[in-house]
Amino acid sequence: MAARAQRLIQRFPEPIIHFIADLHLAPETPGALAIFERFLAGEARHGSALYILGDLFDVWVGDDDRRSGQRVIAALRALTAAGVTVGLIPGNRDFLLGTRFAAASGVERLADPSRLELAEGPILLSHGDALCTADTDYQAFRRQTRDPAWQAAFLARPLTERRAIAHRLRADSERAKPAKSWASMDVEEAEVCALLRAQRAKRLIHGHTHRPGNHVLDIDGQRAERWVLGAWSEEQGDALRLQDGVLTRLTLA
Ligand code: MN
Repeated sequence: MAARAQRLIQRFPEPIIHFIADLHLAPETPGALAIFERFLAGEARHGSALYILGDLFDVWVGDDDRRSGQRVIAALRALTAAGVTVGLIPGNRDFLLGTRFAAASGVERLADPSRLELAEGPILLSHGDALCTADTDYQAFRRQTRDPAWQAAFLARPLTERRAIAHRLRADSERAKPAKSWASMDVEEAEVCALLRAQRAKRLIHGHTHRPGNHVLDIDGQRAERWVLGAWSEEQGDALRLQDGVLTRLTLA
């Protein structure tokens, strides 16, 4: 009689997934760029995927701007060529990242919000600016600038003009900031709960507010979590790592 074979059940190791946001990379911040390059050549390669949740660049006025982002694109290209999936949700600074950037870097542009489907349930991914509904001026600006017709008209302008407009918009927003309350520039908890409820999700990861944290929410008696990624500086970067269903915060240097 043939012996019954023993079944060796090995759980396929859950892939490692990394999340980052708000790097605000620019020629004036070589330190943050160096941390990004080290991360992409190192820890990010141990993962199966990297999700960039907006504001990778401090400003992006069009994929034809050859002055911007060549080193960033090269680092992303090396990571995606190594087999790591990289997805990007555009932020309020780099929502004009387009198809040429995606083709050059191997990065997939994702909708905001996106759902990451996992064995333990979905995780929602968002930049976070759409959840800051108390800032009505900003939401009006957001609606305008996300309109395909507005974007096409903007991208049809000469590069130098686009750079000047972006510079002016940023200066205007910096001037308006002190007049706005600190609370109005954070996400609205009611919006977060409505989103999680509509998507039947228990976890959300976002950036944008530059207020890193992990908030526990009660949604109809069920525990939910809102994880906020921190902005990068010249000295350090912030990332979240998902492994075996658990999120851990990493400080990158
Ligand atoms: Mn932002």
